[in-house]
Amino acid sequence: MGKQTMGTPCQALQFRADNKLYRIQTPQTPVARTENWAKFNVDQFPTGTNAIVAVLAYTGYDMEDAMILNKSAVERGMFHGQIYKTETIDLTKMRRKGDGIVNVFARSDVAGARKGAPAPVQNSNFVDTDGLPYIGQIMVEGNPYCSVLNTVTGNAKISKLKGGDKAVVDFVAAVGTGPKEPMQKVSIRMRYGRNPVIGDKFSSRHGQKGVLSQQWPDIDMPFSAVTGMRPDLIINPHAFPSRMTIGMLLESMAAKVGVLKGEFVNATPFQKCVSDPKSSKKNKDESLVDKYGKQLKEYGFNYHGTEVMYSGVLGTEMTCEIYIGVVYYQRLRHMVGDKYQVRSTGAVNPVTRQPVKGRKFGGGIRFGEMERDSLLAHGAAYLLHDRLHTCSDYHTADVCVRCGSLLSTTPVIQQKSSAAFAMGLGSNKESRIICRVCSSSRDIELVAMPYVFRYLASELAAMNIKLTLTIGNG
Ligand SMILES: [Zn+2]
Repeated sequence: MGKQTMGTPCQALQFRADNKLYRIQTPQTPVARTENWAKFNVDQFPTGTNAIVAVLAYTGYDMEDAMILNKSAVERGMFHGQIYKTETIDLTKMRRKGDGIVNVFARSDVAGARKGAPAPVQNSNFVDTDGLPYIGQIMVEGNPYCSVLNTVTGNAKISKLKGGDKAVVDFVAAVGTGPKEPMQKVSIRMRYGRNPVIGDKFSSRHGQKGVLSQQWPDIDMPFSAVTGMRPDLIINPHAFPSRMTIGMLLESMAAKVGVLKGEFVNATPFQKCVSDPKSSKKNKDESLVDKYGKQLKEYGFNYHGTEVMYSGVLGTEMTCEIYIGVVYYQRLRHMVGDKYQVRSTGAVNPVTRQPVKGRKFGGGIRFGEMERDSLLAHGAAYLLHDRLHTCSDYHTADVCVRCGSLLSTTPVIQQKSSAAFAMGLGSNKESRIICRVCSSSRDIELVAMPYVFRYLASELAAMNIKLTLTIGNG
């Protein structure tokens, strides 16, 4: 899960122009680490935080791989992070080879701008006279961050911030600027704050990934009887039996000892367990649990890493001891803010008139065949009708009952009978539906159907196949 973390991907961040880069704000070095950790300078690129993790089912908000974070711990900066996005604007791509420089970075109110060009009132708050944004400027969707002036036409092309997130102008780099030529390429880096919200993903180094379900108030978190300590993070004990991530339980205990001692723990795999030199018995086959259990006991803690805890809500002692320790937790780069998709109404495909697909376009989520099967199995006919018809491509078509065609009907405007017109009843024209095949306006029914059905009839007609509908009541 290392490559999915929101960690420290590089050191020269200040000078980089990555398309997209994730970075955590308050990283720590893990207490439990391998022998090669220092050798490969992994500390230069930390990815997580040593969190106090309690393993218990608390409040129900940690069911099914959900996890609870301590709200105060998050407010102190735990798992805070940023996304950096860079926009590169290259004016050389806007002209052909050999042509003179026409486009320059400038605001539209500088010399050379067309007379009577729209006043750059909104621009000047965000874009300087050089056409580039102010570093540190807070921007929201639609704010301009770059202005390119055409020195021939005097028109300015303005780049605006996209996406609903608030951004800060982090860095502006002039790329490859000659001494005499005007600047033709810039990289503008935006910084987006991404603090933990409900729905974000976290993981330990053992692959125990979970989704934040609630930021629980510190005062309502369970607390230890011995130290009064409240956990940063709560995960459900049911996450362990099937996954068998014993390593995480061992890390929890080992790092707890390490924290008490103020030392790093050697967690290199496949090593012989060497017992504590202070211990009187030199037992080579001692288990890790015994090794760290003894040391925990020396510091006045429970041998098995559990602690008596009190409910933060009720103030009563919990009926069993709670396994609590230190685990290195990472924030993963999958965030709800980038993934959530919701729609009531919006763009439709012009051919089928069904909602378009894709989060970017405000499209719908596909209600596919398997979902359809589920509703059929439940007998939820009205819900099925609602999803597949009413909320999709609802359409009403005029169908000629005589010939059964839905393509031959068309509205025509006719003169009203002179009697009705003489009585002064509105316009003298009226619209009627007639069938072009039967040349009749009788026996025409309005039928509701998905629009794709009409499209199907049209496609079949194009192949010289006639589709006939039999209309009946029932
Ligand atoms: Zn007809």
